[in-house]
Amino acid sequence: MSNSTKFIFVTGGVTSSLGKGIISASLAKLLQARGYSVTIQKLDPYINIDPGTLNPYEHGECFVTDDGAETDLDLGHYERFLNVPTSQANNVTTGRIYQSVIEKERRGDYLGKTVQVIPHITDEIKNRIQILAKNGDFEIIITEIGGTVGDIESLPYIEAVRQMMWEFEDDCIVIHLTLIPYLSAAGELKTKPTQHSVKQLLELGVQPDILCCRTEHALDINLRKKIAKFCNVNINAVIESRDAESIYDVPLLMQKEELDKVVLEKLNLLTRSLPNLDKWTHFLEMLKNPKSEVNVAIVGKYVELKDSYKSIAESLIHAGVENECKVQVHWIHSEKIYNENVEKLLLQMDGVIVAPGFGSRGISGKIEAIRFVRENNIPFLGICLGMQCAVIEYARNVLHYAEANSHEIDAKTKHPVISLMENQKVVSGKGGTMRLGAYQCKLKPKSKIAKAYHSEVISERHRHRYEYNSDYLEEFEKNGMIATGFNPETNLVEVVELENHPWFVGVQFHPEYKSTVDNPHPLFVAFIHACKIMASKNSPSNSEKILQ
Ligand code: GLN
Repeated sequence: MSNSTKFIFVTGGVTSSLGKGIISASLAKLLQARGYSVTIQKLDPYINIDPGTLNPYEHGECFVTDDGAETDLDLGHYERFLNVPTSQANNVTTGRIYQSVIEKERRGDYLGKTVQVIPHITDEIKNRIQILAKNGDFEIIITEIGGTVGDIESLPYIEAVRQMMWEFEDDCIVIHLTLIPYLSAAGELKTKPTQHSVKQLLELGVQPDILCCRTEHALDINLRKKIAKFCNVNINAVIESRDAESIYDVPLLMQKEELDKVVLEKLNLLTRSLPNLDKWTHFLEMLKNPKSEVNVAIVGKYVELKDSYKSIAESLIHAGVENECKVQVHWIHSEKIYNENVEKLLLQMDGVIVAPGFGSRGISGKIEAIRFVRENNIPFLGICLGMQCAVIEYARNVLHYAEANSHEIDAKTKHPVISLMENQKVVSGKGGTMRLGAYQCKLKPKSKIAKAYHSEVISERHRHRYEYNSDYLEEFEKNGMIATGFNPETNLVEVVELENHPWFVGVQFHPEYKSTVDNPHPLFVAFIHACKIMASKNSPSNSEKILQ
């Protein structure tokens, strides 16, 4: 491990959902903008090995890294803020910790010792934190501990933090994110829950260095003094974290509170230059001053919980900024789309995305939506299952294979236009067994997708078991659905487009995992551009705005 590596731990108190991920990503952004190399890690206290088998309703989207790790959605925030890819090492769960300790025990690595939470589980946690420091790639590692202090599940993590604070002394700090609730009956902000949650940390042997206080109202100097006094922190280490209009405001709000400066002082690091956030500020300016607006529908079956499609929603924000327009997202439940109402739901849309997903629930609504956008020349982006549905729709309604389907939906279909991949036929377990992570894709010159990327070889992340069935390729192409992206090693079809449509693209991969503030994803940028053209047709007043 490099001597100079510093560790920042982020814990949470009082309640969940305070936004530890955004605070961690914002701090990392500020430190990065001062020239430090930073990475962020999330430790999740649940027993699943990874979130890959979790229903999106539980924790939202499953984010996929280049190296094929199925991870918590916070890793998406880390990548979008830092513009640096994460990997398997950036997300560790209790399940994974126990799995490797038990594997070691079975191998006999513990030489007859009794295997216990302390030291074996805590040592494994400490190793996982320090793995990121091994190659000396990062000067600062921020480790976010999932859950809330006081949960039984997070005890071993807090104990690992306590041990590291002791072993690494000046190289570690703890930031505790807490809530200062406002009691409207009393007309006051209340500090007691924060005092109690710090006390809980102290009982576990951890004194936080910095308190980040989530609040709906400004913290005045007296309140800050009170918090500092009762929680043993310096007054400048009481950081106000107000609710923000956009998550992308948070780095600037944290900079105003000098969070980065306090962190660097506590870690005995030079403040170096002031953070250079020019690009970020420019992005925010564009985000808040759009010149026009487009209406985009996202069709999916988990739309009640928007976090299920977090990366798609953020990619649309990035692409909107790049196109100087606001993307108004309309969430449409795929189970509520029928032949009778599809026109009413989608006719006013400037573009439609059919989202990824698993299983048969909501499929007919997705297919209905695709038929409608295909017939009405509405820009369409199909992602993973969305692309597969576009293939099924075309086979049914244009090739007239009424029974065309995916093997996932109907294992006995006569026309499996989407079929189980050969190497998936022997797979029985669910966890970590899909086609996962980054694969190269060769694009057909002059296709819409090649034009979007300005390139003919790309790399994108995958997460699926089923594939386009190339037995039907010739027939599809003869009838206007062209394959425009292929895996260079297996020749599998990864992209389909329609010849006679303004912008209809289906991709087997997930472009949404690679869009960042610094690098809005080219495919989303091209899609929103097509939506803008559509919007100018839908509403001439909008077109005037665009032309300004
Ligand atoms: N269920 C489909 C498959 O496994 C699509 C997966 C997805 O949309 N991520 O192939």
